[in-house]
Amino acid sequence: MSCIFCKIVAGEIPSYKVYEDEDVYAFLDIAPVNYGHTLVVSRKHFTNMEEIPENELCQLIKAVKKVGKALKDGLGVAGYNIGENNDPVAGQIIPHIHFHVMPRRADDGLRLWPQGKYEEGKAEKIAEKIRKVLL
Ligand code: 5GP
Ligand code: ZN
Repeated sequence: MSCIFCKIVAGEIPSYKVYEDEDVYAFLDIAPVNYGHTLVVSRKHFTNMEEIPENELCQLIKAVKKVGKALKDGLGVAGYNIGENNDPVAGQIIPHIHFHVMPRRADDGLRLWPQGKYEEGKAEKIAEKIRKVLL
């Protein structure tokens, strides 16, 4: 077992736990975006969104919801971002599915990603390609 998050879940690597239940373990990110930045991970090893079964994902997202509320109530922050980097190209460094719950303060200076716009006719083509897979 070489996965860092499996080792954290097993207690082989120390972590600052904030929540756990039968399916989920949540702990402070070692390099926080803001104080309280929490990682919510499945106890079982699944790489990403495609691999994790829906029932396990439901447990994970329920825990994310609890952690978000705890960040607000416990740290007094006004809001939070939820992130899941899915695959290396999207910035996923640890290949064990996890959600980032990142507290936000009005004056924290963080900026989200830059956004662009669609040229004429592009949005319909893109939407169609996605719809074909989903419908
Ligand atoms: P990813 O880029 O895979 O979505 O995020 C991985 C996160 O895990 C990073 O934010 C990184 O700071 C955090 N991380 C990596 N190694 C450790 C560790 O050993 N302990 C803790 N608590 N966090 C870690
Ligand atoms: Zn793992």
